[in-house]
Amino acid sequence: MSVVLPGATIGIVGGGQLGRMFALEARRMGYRVAVWDPGADSPAAQVADEAVIAPFHDPEAARELARRSDLVTLEWENADVATLRELEALVPVRPGPAVLEVAQHRLREKDAARRLGVPTADYRAVHSLDDLRAAVAEIGAPAVLKTARGGYDGKGQAVIRDPADAEAALRSVAPEGTELILEAFVRFRMEISVVCARSTTGEVSCFPVGENEHRGGILHSTVVPARVSPAVAAEARRIARALVEGLDVVGLLAVEMFVGDDGVVRMNEIAPRPHNSGHYTWEACPVSQFEQQLRAVCGLPLGSADLLRPAAMVNLMGDDAGTGLGRMGTVEMMAVPTAALHLYGKAESRPGRKMGHVTALGDDADQALQRAQRAWHALAADVDAVALAPARE
Ligand code: AMP
Repeated sequence: MSVVLPGATIGIVGGGQLGRMFALEARRMGYRVAVWDPGADSPAAQVADEAVIAPFHDPEAARELARRSDLVTLEWENADVATLRELEALVPVRPGPAVLEVAQHRLREKDAARRLGVPTADYRAVHSLDDLRAAVAEIGAPAVLKTARGGYDGKGQAVIRDPADAEAALRSVAPEGTELILEAFVRFRMEISVVCARSTTGEVSCFPVGENEHRGGILHSTVVPARVSPAVAAEARRIARALVEGLDVVGLLAVEMFVGDDGVVRMNEIAPRPHNSGHYTWEACPVSQFEQQLRAVCGLPLGSADLLRPAAMVNLMGDDAGTGLGRMGTVEMMAVPTAALHLYGKAESRPGRKMGHVTALGDDADQALQRAQRAWHALAADVDAVALAPARE
C-alpha cells in the first residue's frame, strides 16, 4: 500500500477539538488539512488549510471533501456510514466505515468484544418494556439502560436500582422504538483506557494505560501510568490489541475499560479515533496520539508510544455558573511547574462542554495529578473565561 507523504492533503470528518489537535500535528509535519464540519468556525477549521462547511449526511459535501483530499480520516465516530461508503469509493477512508458500524452501536461493540475474547459486563438487547423487564430479571439490579446508538458522555443512560424502576427508566432514556441495551452494573475499582494505533501495514502500537475519573458520566481526569498492577496493565493492553487487530482498524482505537472489584478487566466502549484520555500523549510521549493517527493512516512507521514522564490531564468544562472573571486564572495556572494549557477555540461556554484541558508532568503519577489539579483549580474558578468569545468584545 502506498505511503502518503507530507504535502498531501488529509481530510478530516469532524471539526471538534480532536480534529483541531490532529490538524495542528499534521500541519507541523508539512501536510495540508481539509476539515468537514457543519460549523463555520469549528475548532479544527480554525487551524486547517481548508474547510467544507456542510451537514454530515450531505453527499455533495462528501464528494467535495474527496476532491480536496488524498486521504480521509475521522475525529468523530457518529458520521453517517452510508455517506462514508460513498466517500470511500472516491478516496481512501481510514479507519473504514465497517469499524464505525461497530463503534456506533453498543450491542455490536459488545458482540464483537465477546467474539474476540474480550470480557464485557453481562448485557441484553432491549426493544420494549417486556424485553426490559425480562432483561432486568436475568441480569439483576442494579443495571444500566443505555441507547444502543448516539449516546456519549453518559447521555441516554439510566441506572435501574430496582426492577420497579424499569418503566420510568425506559421513558427517561429514549422515545419508544429506540434500540437499547441493558448492562449489568459493574462494581469497579477503577476506569482505565488504552489508545492503540494500527497502520496500513498492520503494525500495532499501544500507548500506556490511563486511569480515568469521570464526573457526571464525562471524563474529568486521566493519570498515567494508571495505578494498577502489572497484570491488570498487561490485560488492558492485550484487550486493546485484540480489538484493534480483530476489528481491522487502520488509525486509532481508544478502548475504555473497567477494572472490576473482582479484578477482571472488562471493555466498556470503543472509539476509532483520538480520545480525550489520550491527550496526555502530547506532552508525555515521543509522539502524540494525533501524530500516531497520522502515521498510521498514511502508512508511515509508527512512533514510540513510550511514556517519557508520568502525566496527568484534567478537562476544562464549560459552566454556566462562571461570570467571566477575566483571565487571571491563566496567569496563576502558568506558574504551576510543567502545566500546559490547551484551549479549543470554542466561542461559547456551555455546561458540560469541553472547552480545553491542562496537562502536567511529575516524578510520579501522584505529583503529576497534584500539579494538574492545581492548574485546573486556577482555571476552573474562571471557567467561562476559557471560552474565547470575550477576547473579541
Ligand atoms: P459510557 O457512556 O458507556 O462511557 O458511560 C459513562 C460512564 O458511566 C462510564 O465511564 C462509567 O463511569 C459509567 N458506567 C457506564 N456503564 C456502566 C456499567 N455497566 N456499570 C457501571 N458504571 C457504568
